[in-house]
Amino acid sequence: MPERPPSTARIALNRPLRRLFDYQIPNNLELEPGQRVSIPFGRQSATGLIVETGVEPPQGITLKPVHSAYEPWPALPAETFQLLAWASDYYQHPLGECLFTALPPALRRGRPATAKQDTWWKATAGPEALAGNAHRQRALLAWLQRQPHGASTSNLTAAGFSREQIRALHKRELIEETEAAKPTENPNDTASTQPGPTLSPAQQAAADQIPAPDTGFSASLVYGITGSGKTELYLHYLKQQLSASAQALVLVPEINLTPQTVARFQRYFGQRIVVWHSALNDGERLSTWLKIRHGEPVILIGTRSAVLLPFTGLKTIIVDEEHDSSYKQGEGFRYSGRDMAVYRAHLNQCPVILGSATPSLESYQNALTGKYQLIRLEERAGNASPPAINLLDIRSRPLEGGLSRPALQAIDQCLADGQQALVFVNRRGFAPVMMCFDCGHMVECPRCDTRLTYHRRDRAMRCHHCDYQTAATEHCPKCQSEAFKPVGQGTERTEDILATAFPETPVVRVDRDSTQRKGSIQGILKKVNTGKPCILVGTQMLAKGHDFPNVTLVIVVNADGGLFSVDFRAPEQLIQTLLQVSGRAGRGEKSGQVLVQTCHSDHPILKSLCRGHYLTLADQLLAERETGQFPPFRAMAIFRAEADTMEKSLALLDMIKPQARVTGNEVWGPLPALIARRADRHRAQLVLCCDNRKRLNHVLGHLCQNLDQQKLPAGVKWMIDVDPQETG
Ligand code: ADP
Ligand code: ZN
Ligand code: ZN
Repeated sequence: MPERPPSTARIALNRPLRRLFDYQIPNNLELEPGQRVSIPFGRQSATGLIVETGVEPPQGITLKPVHSAYEPWPALPAETFQLLAWASDYYQHPLGECLFTALPPALRRGRPATAKQDTWWKATAGPEALAGNAHRQRALLAWLQRQPHGASTSNLTAAGFSREQIRALHKRELIEETEAAKPTENPNDTASTQPGPTLSPAQQAAADQIPAPDTGFSASLVYGITGSGKTELYLHYLKQQLSASAQALVLVPEINLTPQTVARFQRYFGQRIVVWHSALNDGERLSTWLKIRHGEPVILIGTRSAVLLPFTGLKTIIVDEEHDSSYKQGEGFRYSGRDMAVYRAHLNQCPVILGSATPSLESYQNALTGKYQLIRLEERAGNASPPAINLLDIRSRPLEGGLSRPALQAIDQCLADGQQALVFVNRRGFAPVMMCFDCGHMVECPRCDTRLTYHRRDRAMRCHHCDYQTAATEHCPKCQSEAFKPVGQGTERTEDILATAFPETPVVRVDRDSTQRKGSIQGILKKVNTGKPCILVGTQMLAKGHDFPNVTLVIVVNADGGLFSVDFRAPEQLIQTLLQVSGRAGRGEKSGQVLVQTCHSDHPILKSLCRGHYLTLADQLLAERETGQFPPFRAMAIFRAEADTMEKSLALLDMIKPQARVTGNEVWGPLPALIARRADRHRAQLVLCCDNRKRLNHVLGHLCQNLDQQKLPAGVKWMIDVDPQETG
């Protein structure tokens, strides 16, 4: 009998290489795809993931053997593996890096797949035991007292408390370690959960249209206007339909900004809720990852990358605010969390529910063609009614810090009525430009083709496109003139103006600068939720799913930024942002109004915005996209190049252009990017549009293969962005 040839395995490494590596499987090892192994690599050892076993061993080459397997089970079970392999091909990103994205950092580094025991706590005293202004610690005690079986450190951090707060309370002996709660009969832990309001007939009708978790694949687009009670709908759906042993995934654009959402889910599902987002530490990530992998019946609330986790009992996927551009990863593995959620539901044969008050044109088009079921929820929940939107033409009006007299009067009236106002500004910092009125000099970033933003609080000039910053000066750096002044509006400036105009009223700023510290958003939300009159000033962050019941007035300082942009998505994004931010008004008992300041009050987009019906606007935008043959009517990908000179970037794109030009493919460019130089890299792009997605994928695959085999000039880098969100 001839000796059986040794079995071989094809292995992926966490490297930006479009190739796999073959190894021999020692006789004492049984390996399957998705398993994590240690292999010799060069002079070191590396962690790899098995892609395939039993491949034909290459002739005449002796393969090195795999050292060992980390665990006897695949870190990536079949569906997760399939999902990532599909994404690697669809987004043209190396398989190894795609697969490793689904592992927590500890497992990427070759650590064992065992989690530290999560400490369980119970309260030994109530919040009244704490004097002074330890508000968060008091809140923690109150929260913990409501949990009949106590709670673990990770439950507490998921609820928005910090490890420092836990430590401080432990030191004071106000909480103590306890036995871990035994998994209860009902993981929904009804004892500790409080039901919310009963669904309105409209909500119930919508809920009834969503197919049950065990009915196979289905995709539903819930178009529910702001404040229509979509979150409540998801909660009821899961409570009524999800079986006690199943897993569910709820994707949200940003967790840290919307701790209220997690809290609402916890009220319904108690400790069944786990979270996944970028602020978790390595230990927390590993322990959550293990729960998911081992099929614990959790409901995971997570940002984009949560869709890649190795669920084994996933029965429902919800994508909240599905239009949000943060679902698309902007660098490296440029996947869309939303689109992968739909594919994942396909693989898992379960329902996926996409929800938004302003659905993306892609999803809406899928609803129109019948790929998705469209579920409408067009009245507000409770007693709230949608806000009235009015344009305020500011062409010849004097402005104070960007605000017109009628806008200031409206704020005054709103505060006098005991309500809260929200002022939306689309830039952070004090002013986007510092300009000399003598010599015309404007301060630019030395590394990018952009101007520096003036941050007055920190007396700094900062680039919002790279990490450059320098001290602000009082005189023009070029001619020393004193006529050196800020131009344009940023949130800091509007905050100052409002604080001067309304000295009695708290003004709360919400932007990336004011929310950087962990937990700061909680403090801000708490202040707002007291319901006392205040003015909120902020960027897009304020548009994201917050529920401020006492805000009755929304002012948009300037709506004109997106009206004349070259980006084909700009009108869609402008409308979405304006409607989302408007949707913060009048969510409680009292009705709301929105004032949009503009210099173009006769612009058709803004005029339709006032009529307020998003789907009508979406129909118009889709018609324009169809005329221009833009997505979703054709598939698009951008081939980007960057180098130390623009010539090199353009030369690379010129070289590949002929290969990209195949039948059915339209190629635009190469052209320098909108911000041509960024962090001293010169960027250019080639845009590919194709009637047929498969063909586009095929062309991109070829381009990658060819480029991989060529030696490119030093310092030249290229990348592909499939279904790009930003086309500048
Ligand atoms: P959305 O997610 O669509 O913005 P939410 O689910 O946050 O809406 O609901 C908006 C507000 O209306 C919340 O304060 C919520 O508690 C309240 N609400 C939702 N559904 C109901 C209902 N059936 N009865 C009373 N209030 C409700
Ligand atoms: Zn000057
Ligand atoms: Zn810069």
